[in-house]
Amino acid sequence: MAIIDLRSDTVTKPTDEMRRAMAAAEVGDDVYGEDPSVNELQEQAASMLGHEAGLLTASGTMSNLLATLTYCNHGDEIVMGDQAHMFWNEGGGQAALAGVQTRLIPQSASGGINAGDVARNIRSTGNPHVAATKMICLENTQNRCSGMVMTPAETKAVCDVAHGSGVAVHLDGARIFNASVALEVPVAELTRDVDDASFCLSKALSCPVGSVLVGSKEFIKEAARWRKMVGGGMRQAGVLAAAGLVALDTMVDRLAEDHQIARRLAEGLANIDGITLDADSIQTNIVIFDIDEKVAKAPDFIKAMASAEVLVSYPGEQSVRMVTHRHISADDAEEALSRTSKVVRELQAAR
Ligand SMILES: *Cc1c(COP(=O)(O)O)cnc(C)c1O
Repeated sequence: MAIIDLRSDTVTKPTDEMRRAMAAAEVGDDVYGEDPSVNELQEQAASMLGHEAGLLTASGTMSNLLATLTYCNHGDEIVMGDQAHMFWNEGGGQAALAGVQTRLIPQSASGGINAGDVARNIRSTGNPHVAATKMICLENTQNRCSGMVMTPAETKAVCDVAHGSGVAVHLDGARIFNASVALEVPVAELTRDVDDASFCLSKALSCPVGSVLVGSKEFIKEAARWRKMVGGGMRQAGVLAAAGLVALDTMVDRLAEDHQIARRLAEGLANIDGITLDADSIQTNIVIFDIDEKVAKAPDFIKAMASAEVLVSYPGEQSVRMVTHRHISADDAEEALSRTSKVVRELQAAR
């Protein structure tokens, strides 16, 4: 019985082709801008996302922080949905390191934020009583909302409102390629209207390390200065960029497979008595469901699942998250379903 690891797509390992490319990568000192592999990755990412320039960073968290540092001064305000990864899962870095306060827009578990909500939450920069809104953060796909996608039209509507008030829009596109594949639109349509966007190489794209931030030349120049300040200037980072280039070439189209398997997983889970889930709401590779409190508290359920060698994560309260990725086959999903159903039955019997 093998462990089925559904905690996150971050557990994916580099492919053989990536490892070969990493070993053979041409490298230089990237702090001097002299790493040809990094430069190629940055140019390719910027061109795919329809922006002028790109910057390789250590992580999605670092890319998000660099955007905040670039747009904001201490005491400014940033606005995002109350399910945003930047709010929940980045250690409070926006407050601790950028000195900004975060204003949250209520979001339902399945809902994005819309242009009207954004308009109501942008605050005057002229009034000394209020913090000035400098940045709106969007997330696509939305991690804590079961990997929900934002469409190009929804994205543009928010951007129009923000830009009308002189506020920048940062897109946390950790899984933007999942959104592009799910919507069957070129990724540039999802990133064109925002001022900058980041995406993760180290999630479903299977790279070992890294994220790329794209934006205007001026924005990227300033973000690179902040990257150096927070200790993210890396030297022969071309070994990492080489894997990124392989990922952009070979790992994007296959995401459709992860989405199909997630959908199948969701349908199976929805049929288990004690689990609540709307399988039709699953659009990409993230499946979040509620476990009935009468079955178990979520942390106990997760422990029981781990004993059955199915690893899952725990976004909060009674919810449980499963993420499909390159190492999860359709057969693994079926096996995970049968183990889950057995765990639920055993927990119910033990009450
Ligand atoms: C994973 C994730 C990040 C952060 O990426 P790390 O590389 O883990 O720092 C940011 N935003 C979203 C939506 C994510 O899912």
